[in-house]
Amino acid sequence: MKYHIWTVGCQMNVADSRKLAAGLERAGLSAVDAPESADLVVLNTCSVREHAEDRAIGQLGRLKKLRERGKELRIAVMGCMVGPRDDDLRRRFPYVDAFARPQDFAPIMALAGIDDAGGEFWPTTFATPDAVTAYVPVVHGCDKFCTYCIVPYRRGRERSRTIADIRNEIEHYCARGVREVTLLGQTVEAYGHDLPDAPDLGDLMRAMHDIPGLARIRFLTSYPKDMTAKIVDAVAELPKVCESFYIPVQAGDDAVLARMRRGYTVAEYLDKFELVRARVPHAAMVTDIIVGFCGETAAEFRNTYALLERLRFDKLHVAAYSPRPGTIAHRTLTDDVPPDVKLERLHVIEQLEARVSTEINRTFLDSEQEVLVESRHDGRWSGRNRAGKLIHFEGAAEAGQLIAVHIERATAWSLQGTALPAPVPA
Ligand code: SF4
Repeated sequence: MKYHIWTVGCQMNVADSRKLAAGLERAGLSAVDAPESADLVVLNTCSVREHAEDRAIGQLGRLKKLRERGKELRIAVMGCMVGPRDDDLRRRFPYVDAFARPQDFAPIMALAGIDDAGGEFWPTTFATPDAVTAYVPVVHGCDKFCTYCIVPYRRGRERSRTIADIRNEIEHYCARGVREVTLLGQTVEAYGHDLPDAPDLGDLMRAMHDIPGLARIRFLTSYPKDMTAKIVDAVAELPKVCESFYIPVQAGDDAVLARMRRGYTVAEYLDKFELVRARVPHAAMVTDIIVGFCGETAAEFRNTYALLERLRFDKLHVAAYSPRPGTIAHRTLTDDVPPDVKLERLHVIEQLEARVSTEINRTFLDSEQEVLVESRHDGRWSGRNRAGKLIHFEGAAEAGQLIAVHIERATAWSLQGTALPAPVPA
């Protein structure tokens, strides 16, 4: 039997799809690139924004047509579109054969005709890596219940994996050529509070640090309130942990943050930002912003803009607010910022990001950067430096190598240069 998995959304979804693929392959199925050649198609969906759901619904329409043209096809939908109750989905998409919540692979295994009653394929099935980098979920779910967000309803409460289980997975990857892992959590600093002895993210990074072959450790996504000096110190002290922090602020105005129930004020966010800058001075900083949240006034938006201009993030992910049914905001607040105003604010933030990123990236000109070589396209190699900047370069290299690159050009989105002859010592 042949399968095809289509994935949208966050890195957690990417990791889930890889794990599902590993389980299906272990059971004897083989992957194909297109639904047209598959017997089983799995759509791994995202509900965080309306646009992501629309894309999944578009895919479902295409699969339905394939079926109508006579193709024998089993269709499964998994991921954040599937809540604890799926009757509404079953009504809307009666041609879907199975719905599976995030990480609940059993309905898909059953659909593929695989008897997994003994849990033979889970939870110790690790994907075979096809790259030198890998995502490793360390804590699932989220307990925060920000008013706009559907994740806690779809991914459930925070559940940490044990250090031994995570180490086992990373050792498996590194023995097969992976050099860099990204430890994933919806709020990654929540790691460990539910485990015996309550290890934190810093303890986890220390416990992974000596894995043979592992060159770099990254982690995301951070939740400002959960970030502690102890975790930041672990980043500062551990040579393999990259100096890069992804700390969503979402808004730069206290009233908006309160409506979002983010659990911090702008001043508290700034404290965490300064803590990182003081202890890891050259850290790259990345954030998320939502514009046009319920009731956002022009003055509130200006406060967000001013904060972003002041903090000069290396990268911003900006989205216009779209209400998600089932969330607190959808039930209790009014989505009253007109679409054209949302779009205008989105563009203003995008322009700010392009300007600031270009300015920051230009400071790398004529420097030497340590790059983990990832892949080759159109005659050029690509990889990232420790700050997570995408670097394209010419010259001799091999995937998985740490190499020094001389930076000659910089844009808002990437750096370009030439490999220097001597590889960086391991
Ligand atoms: S912290 Fe807030 S935004 Fe992030 S996943 Fe949890 S509820 Fe959603």
